[in-house]
Amino acid sequence: RPRVSARLAAIAESATLAVDAKAKALKAAGRPVIGFGAGEPDFPTPQYVVDAAVAACQDPANHRYTPAAGLPALREAVAAKTLRDSGYEIRPADVLVTNGGKQAVYQAFAAVLDPGDEVLLPAPYWTTYPEAIRLAGAVPVEVFAGVDQGYLVTVEQLEAARTPRTKVLLFNSPSNPTGAVYSPEQTEQIGRWALEHGIWVITDEIYEHLTYDDAVFTPVLRVVPELADTTIVLNGVAKTYAMTGWRVGWMTGPADVIKAATNLQSHLTSNVANVSQRAAVAALTGDLSAVDAMRTAFDRRRRTMVQMLSAIDGVVCPAPQGAFYAYPSVEGLMGRTIRGTTVRSSADLATLILEQAEVAVVPGEAFGPSGYLRLSYALGDDDLVEGVSRIQSLLADAG
Ligand code: PLP
Repeated sequence: RPRVSARLAAIAESATLAVDAKAKALKAAGRPVIGFGAGEPDFPTPQYVVDAAVAACQDPANHRYTPAAGLPALREAVAAKTLRDSGYEIRPADVLVTNGGKQAVYQAFAAVLDPGDEVLLPAPYWTTYPEAIRLAGAVPVEVFAGVDQGYLVTVEQLEAARTPRTKVLLFNSPSNPTGAVYSPEQTEQIGRWALEHGIWVITDEIYEHLTYDDAVFTPVLRVVPELADTTIVLNGVAKTYAMTGWRVGWMTGPADVIKAATNLQSHLTSNVANVSQRAAVAALTGDLSAVDAMRTAFDRRRRTMVQMLSAIDGVVCPAPQGAFYAYPSVEGLMGRTIRGTTVRSSADLATLILEQAEVAVVPGEAFGPSGYLRLSYALGDDDLVEGVSRIQSLLADAG
């Protein structure tokens, strides 16, 4: 019999973490690597949040377990923040505090999926979704929207992929990896379609505060409130408050689902680190000025990156409207020979870029079909310009 279970043997390592680890290892070995792989803000956590955490450390009351579902103060803060940012009411009892948004993703799927259930997964998708779906015994059904559609799936495409086994639609706007943002009208259309067919919506709203130009974040439950009984909302402090390392996220949803997920979490990880929860209370009850400042910087870098990538022959880079990733199509480079290597896939291209230009990017294969690259623009302006310049020089050699 195999030593590792079939269930876990089927899971691939997170490609984004792998690219980041490779880049960091090269850097540690003294190479001048520039990393566009990681999905995390380069800014430190805002000082008022750090101060709250330091103060929390000094109080022995915070050295203990909290309830598995989270500190009452944090569940209240999530409910208040939901009203402030999304415009609808939830009860603190409807909130489960998780170890980052990632644990919320896993637990949301685990709470509603049985073996054989299908999940409609708009692609390109964040690399964790299909693995979490499979771990729940269910089947991810990809619905692909390419660069020509602005990476936005239509109701017609979803309807064509729907079967009697479809239980859930995964919705992620603003999107990782594409930066695409659904309009209020598109969001409502998709929500109404899910409601009509009794399909659950798991909506990952972790990039809600990072939108640019005219794009606005639309909470599904604000435009289709009737979905409240069959929708799970995922969120966290990582991206909004530059708090990736603190590991605080949450899920909100109907009472039976939150109860089931809390039971699972009580056996899996118990509660999120007490001090981290105190820090998250400070973040959520403060104002949004820190994220406004970060968004301004991201927006500037976004423009620079899109402009520089678009100048490369064979690269098509739509301007992302949210999150902090650019997702250029590199299909125009397939079959071309660059410094002696013929590029057959975006994975080939990413390897070439790392080896020849010492720049780390994530290939589209991590998020669905080949033919794309994901570059995070959550890094310093100078590094960003240097990194994309190196890619420009390398690809100028494409034969
Ligand atoms: N959801 C999306 C779409 C993400 O991109 C991420 C992080 O990369 C997460 C959820 C989870 O973030 P965390 O677990 O750090 O809160």
